[in-house]
Amino acid sequence: MSESVLSQILVTLADLKASQQLLSDKVDKMQVDAVLSKDDHLLGKASHYHNCAVHSDSDGDTVVSPPYEAEPALHPGIYTDKPVLTTYAGQKGVKPTKLNWGEADPKARGPIVVSHLANQINVRNAVGAYGGPYSIYRSLAVAMGDLPADHKPNFESTQPPIKIQQQPQWADASKIVSLDPFGHLTSEYYKDEIKKGLDIRPTIAITRAHMIVPELQAEIKSGGMRVDGKVIVNETGELNVHKAAVDPVWFLPGVASRLNVEEDHLRRSLFENTGGMYPELITRPDLKVFLPPIGGLTVYIFGNHELLSDPNTRLTVRVHDECNGSDVFGSDICTCRPYLVYGMKESIKEAQNGGVGLIVYFRKEGRALGEVTKYLVYNARKREGDSASKYFQRTQDVAGVKDMRFQALMPDVFHWLGVTKIDRFMSMSNMKHDALIDAGIKILERVPIPDELIPPDSKVEMDAKIAAGYFTTGAIPREEDLCRTLGRGWDDFRM
Ligand SMILES: [Zn+2]
Repeated sequence: MSESVLSQILVTLADLKASQQLLSDKVDKMQVDAVLSKDDHLLGKASHYHNCAVHSDSDGDTVVSPPYEAEPALHPGIYTDKPVLTTYAGQKGVKPTKLNWGEADPKARGPIVVSHLANQINVRNAVGAYGGPYSIYRSLAVAMGDLPADHKPNFESTQPPIKIQQQPQWADASKIVSLDPFGHLTSEYYKDEIKKGLDIRPTIAITRAHMIVPELQAEIKSGGMRVDGKVIVNETGELNVHKAAVDPVWFLPGVASRLNVEEDHLRRSLFENTGGMYPELITRPDLKVFLPPIGGLTVYIFGNHELLSDPNTRLTVRVHDECNGSDVFGSDICTCRPYLVYGMKESIKEAQNGGVGLIVYFRKEGRALGEVTKYLVYNARKREGDSASKYFQRTQDVAGVKDMRFQALMPDVFHWLGVTKIDRFMSMSNMKHDALIDAGIKILERVPIPDELIPPDSKVEMDAKIAAGYFTTGAIPREEDLCRTLGRGWDDFRM
């Protein structure tokens, strides 16, 4: 290739780069100028909703093609005229609603506002959307016309049936960083703002229920547990329980400090690893709160919830991370359901003796690696000879890490409930134990799962975990023992 052709190519490339930059600058400028500074948009009177990115700038130059009319607007005036890809701190028209994380007074703390509707986008004070992962389903319902984008929930009679006493921990911005301690009373504390039209939603809901667990029914029938009419309501084995569903609400500076990373670094990683889903993580360092699109947790309380924060009341606790295969479907490769049910049994007994029992169930499937990764690991284990000595390595090979549950955020829910001491901790996990201790919560006794509840095929996991530091009252397997703990193969599968 001649030198002149080469230099021509280089010049063309440079031109391309320059026009690319120009285009990107113009798009940015339009985001800043075109949308938020117009009062009619802020008042929700935008004329039309287009679904193509940008049409033309103020000079009339076409910035992004095609300039076709989109499908008829789903909800004219509800969204901004042009999609706002992101906002910027200090941008004209942007005035986030006051939000002071860690304030004891909910009014002074301020509501969390994440709505992207045209009349609220300028007062948003958090990144993300209400509902965690379910915000995606909401998007589908709106797209299909099943749900008006500006539907106003009717919160009448939805308030909690019990009062969770406000704790000093609620006003400690270092103790609670991953949930909103006022999240269950949003519709009460911020009713004026809601009345004015702000889309503010609860991130915690509390209710009461009866539950039936077949294993515990059998225990009751055989006399292993007694009906007291309060916690175990009747011979059928119905159990009285209060439960709270908690969506994650992250105070990013607090989450970063809990994980020992810089906030900027955390924001960049969240932005990049969600496919750039939330540009405001980068462009709005002034917004400190993020509602991540991940599953939350559920708290089950047996006994008198008012005693949870009383250090003189005995408390039995199981912290459980979701394992759908075992918890619901009875897979025998791990101890998840048996340990969960054992945790419930001991919690119920504690409550019957005047104490309180607590189950905290986190949606962190497969050590927060997800169920797809989990099954890939199962295959690798079963194909290559399932032994305790290779248990963690198999996960590491597929996922790159052994665990992504980050128990450092787990204790927040205990601070919310006012728990300062756990009498019986129904878990062998050193990570959960250490996280609670680091959070200043005392643990008086650690209770391992009894041997008779361990399914044979889950011995591989159990031995590997104990060797890696899980709590046990028994012997710690040595290296050579781990090679001898073998799981079942696939030989008994006959189709
Ligand atoms: Zn499991």
